[in-house]
Amino acid sequence: MIRFTDITNEILKYHPKANLDLVEKAYVYSAKVHKGQVRLSGEPYLSHPLEVAYILSTMKMDIVCIVAGLLHDTLEDTEASYEEIKRLFGEETAVIVDGVTKISRMKFSSVQERQAENIRKMILAMSADIRVILVKLADRLHNMRTLGYQPLDKQRRIASETLDIYAPLAGRMGIFWIKSELEDLSLYYLEPEAYNKIKSEIARRKGEREKFIQEVCNLISDKLSELGIKATVKGRHKHFYSIYKKMIDQNLTADQVYDILAFRVIVDSVKKCYEALGHIHSMWRPVPGRFKDYISVPKMNMYQSLHTTVVGPLGEIMEVQIRTWEMNAIAEYGIAAHWKYKEGGGINKTDEKQFAWLRQLLEWQQNLRDPIEFLESVRMDLFPNEVYVFTPRGEVREFPKGATPVDFAYSIHSEVGHHCMGAKVNGKMVSLRYQLKNGDVVEIITSPKAHPSKDWLEFVKTPKARNKIRQWINSQEREESVALGKNILERAIDQVSELDWASLQKDEQLLSVAKDLSLHTLDDLYAQIGLGKISPKQVVGRLRQRLGLQEERSLGIVTKMVRRLKRRKPTEGIRVRGVSDVLIKFAQCCNPLPGEEVIGYITRGRGITIHNQNCRHIQDADPERLVDVTWESSDEETYLARLRITSIDKKGILADISAVIAQKDANIIQAEIKTTTDKKGIAFFTIEVENYSHLKQIMDAIKKIRSIIAVERA
Ligand code: MN
Repeated sequence: MIRFTDITNEILKYHPKANLDLVEKAYVYSAKVHKGQVRLSGEPYLSHPLEVAYILSTMKMDIVCIVAGLLHDTLEDTEASYEEIKRLFGEETAVIVDGVTKISRMKFSSVQERQAENIRKMILAMSADIRVILVKLADRLHNMRTLGYQPLDKQRRIASETLDIYAPLAGRMGIFWIKSELEDLSLYYLEPEAYNKIKSEIARRKGEREKFIQEVCNLISDKLSELGIKATVKGRHKHFYSIYKKMIDQNLTADQVYDILAFRVIVDSVKKCYEALGHIHSMWRPVPGRFKDYISVPKMNMYQSLHTTVVGPLGEIMEVQIRTWEMNAIAEYGIAAHWKYKEGGGINKTDEKQFAWLRQLLEWQQNLRDPIEFLESVRMDLFPNEVYVFTPRGEVREFPKGATPVDFAYSIHSEVGHHCMGAKVNGKMVSLRYQLKNGDVVEIITSPKAHPSKDWLEFVKTPKARNKIRQWINSQEREESVALGKNILERAIDQVSELDWASLQKDEQLLSVAKDLSLHTLDDLYAQIGLGKISPKQVVGRLRQRLGLQEERSLGIVTKMVRRLKRRKPTEGIRVRGVSDVLIKFAQCCNPLPGEEVIGYITRGRGITIHNQNCRHIQDADPERLVDVTWESSDEETYLARLRITSIDKKGILADISAVIAQKDANIIQAEIKTTTDKKGIAFFTIEVENYSHLKQIMDAIKKIRSIIAVERA
């Protein structure tokens, strides 16, 4: 068991003048609050924080980090409070301990590959300080070393969590010895059979192998020193998990994995790395495709080395890594190698450069600011632009900072977004504008009646939510435009006697017109008309062309008359209430009142605006986009009446009768004339009247025409 003095001795090795008062105070405090607690191993609980602090001291961490290691479980398991730790050990320490506690409280059950990366990012995002992760890794390492005391199911859960989350995190931090140890320990608990096979395979030829490793080391260092390169050469077998992965990837058994040996050549300069590589390749044949130059192209975690694989003296396949001492320190301790102890705290210029790799590491940190500003944010907020939250099923999702429950809803499914009515965060109702925080558990409440609102566009942060909301609004507007456009076109076509709306709907002519205008469907055509982009006149013109109709074609006198009169009728056109209310807006400039003469203006994409006929805005408007509208009166129903009109002379009689009917504001639906043998004319008119008195007025007026003999209802 680690004793307190083991830790202080370790610190004094890399920082002889360290003031250890705070470390001692933390030790005493931790012992006090953990008093009486026992580990499953039977050891006093204090042994655990001591081990963690010791691991951190071997990583040459600063005093604050080691103090945090001693205190890391006090918030979770004892009466200690954040305030007390802050008061006794300073805010920096308290923040680290608090960060470790928050991560420890999360349960990452049944991790899928896709999720693992998000969880790792969430852990990074929740760590206000990189030291939080280093303490957490040391904590996990010691817990993995003592995992055997846990019940079996817990062993498996913790081991797979370690393999999925913490080992890659250690790799990302560049601390390979922790990564390898965590992987091997996980393998031991997850795949004990495979682990033991590899172990016995390595043990089987242990003596033989060790002798071989020593020979190869000597061969390399002798050859290099002959050529004037001072090198330290070390050999080892690869760690179990990497052998295991090779077995799985290449479908091999343990004794079929040959390249289990790795050699490391450490030299003084980069130039010598390449020289050494050349000499090693001259000694043994390199395996094609296995050379990697991580010196000119460092890994994201700033790892640098030359990697090659050669066929060794006994035909053994062996990997050789060549690096400088500096590169070796980074490879061994990763980010921790840069965390040099500073008397006054803080990070100096050299460290700044070292930390530059963090920018690459945080590939999700999009807006690269200058390094100095970035370094400050390393202390404050590692990932200022992202937030990670849980679904109710425990999945982690990544969002840009400031994202809301609406963004979350759309990330689940567009239908969830479209029907999102409210949200619960950590079990409590919140507003849809609530800004998500790291670690929130978010649940969306939907209702089939709920729909997106234009307001949402003001606060959503993800492009997906924004696009989906826009799409929805556009499709709503389109539906309305289609309805409006169809209405407008129908009325326009009704005015052309040769065209019949109902049959146009059935045959292909209208669709062909749409295609002529590069539109795909009739709905597209209606929408364009409803949006005021195509005028109904244009469509009618094209229909005429298609059908071979000519404007000037001589028509029967009755038809001509009816058409002319129809066109003059003021009541024609769209009635205000006949169109979907959404599409009608009253112009602010002239505020038309019911009963006033009004006219509609088709706006682009916003339906019809109703203006007073005399409004000056309308005078300059594109006439193509004006539509007749009328107030829909309450007694709006009309009645059809059929009149039988007898006259002496039929010459000009139809024109006279039509004129009178039009004067009285009635619609002529149908007109026909028959000539009797006695040269009298009998005309039949079907007219639309408001009521009986209207009809009476019309009949009286017709009677007053000269040469009319009789007017009666047929
Ligand atoms: Mn712990």
